Amino acid sequence: MPTNTVPPPDYDLPDGFTHVYSGKVRDLWRTPDGLLLFVATDRISAYDWILPTPIPDKGRILTAASLWWFSQLADLCGNHVVSTEVPDAVTGRAMVCRPLDMVPVECVARGYLTGSGLTEYRANGLVCGNPLPAGLVDGSELPESIFTPATKAAIGDHDENITFEQAAGIVGADQAAHLRDLTLRLYDRAREIARSHGIILADTKFEFGFDEAGTLILADEVLTPDSSRYWPADAWAPGRPQPSFDKQYVRDWLTSPASGWDRAADVPPPPLPDDVVAATRAKYVEVYERLTGQPFE
Ligand code: ATP
Ligand code: MG
Repeated sequence: MPTNTVPPPDYDLPDGFTHVYSGKVRDLWRTPDGLLLFVATDRISAYDWILPTPIPDKGRILTAASLWWFSQLADLCGNHVVSTEVPDAVTGRAMVCRPLDMVPVECVARGYLTGSGLTEYRANGLVCGNPLPAGLVDGSELPESIFTPATKAAIGDHDENITFEQAAGIVGADQAAHLRDLTLRLYDRAREIARSHGIILADTKFEFGFDEAGTLILADEVLTPDSSRYWPADAWAPGRPQPSFDKQYVRDWLTSPASGWDRAADVPPPPLPDDVVAATRAKYVEVYERLTGQPFE
């Protein structure tokens, strides 16, 4: 298992903000009002490692994307965003959110077969207990969207796919059904929007939390290239890995001879060269601009 330490925040916030948690990509702070300041950093992770080189503007791009998507989905589910008025040090890459009691299940929806879903399908014809027709290949569109929950892993560990019944064992049958229905409704809406912009939303992960009244609220980031697989629709061709708007570029470089990285040796990945950083940033900007129709500034 990789040993992976999260660097301390490299910015200062005014008095009254207290650091709560840093994940691989986000820093969480308690605000003076008892709310949560959710900061997207420029860190990038791949193969469960935090890479030593940040991607400039990634935090701002992902925050803008997330806010845009929250507004597209607001009629389907309430979300945790309270305000985008944040301290200067994190302008554009942070939002003030309601602190929630997070559901310990990652709510993944898939409309296409790839990644861990494909691996599972090849082994037993199922994805998280969902039976699928025979003959599907990498990148195939599924007959209908499926709910494929996962457990939330600690830093350095993989999330693990689970069945609906296992999710029900964790959160109760009624909540699991509610999570599944919400996840699929949100995914289907987002998928349609993305498709109308020439982009396939192959799959995505949502996180939900309960507010004080016990209502399920959409939390975390939503529909960013870090939590979703986006493919250019005009290049889609099942039967091979699809070109994608996410960290595939970085992953491919890391596992190429050029990087000199021995992934199996459990050593940290090397710094990214400037051209890999620039190409990765360009992918994040491009998918943001294509989806929202707005320039990234
Ligand atoms: P990674 O995503 O890299 O696998 P991670 O999920 O631990 O690791 P981040 O995504 O960087 O790290 O951190 C964001 C954290 O904030 C997650 O643990 C997420 O569940 C939590 N979170 C999101 N929204 C809220 C909220 N409204 N209230 C409380 N916690 C939240
Ligand atoms: Mg996370």
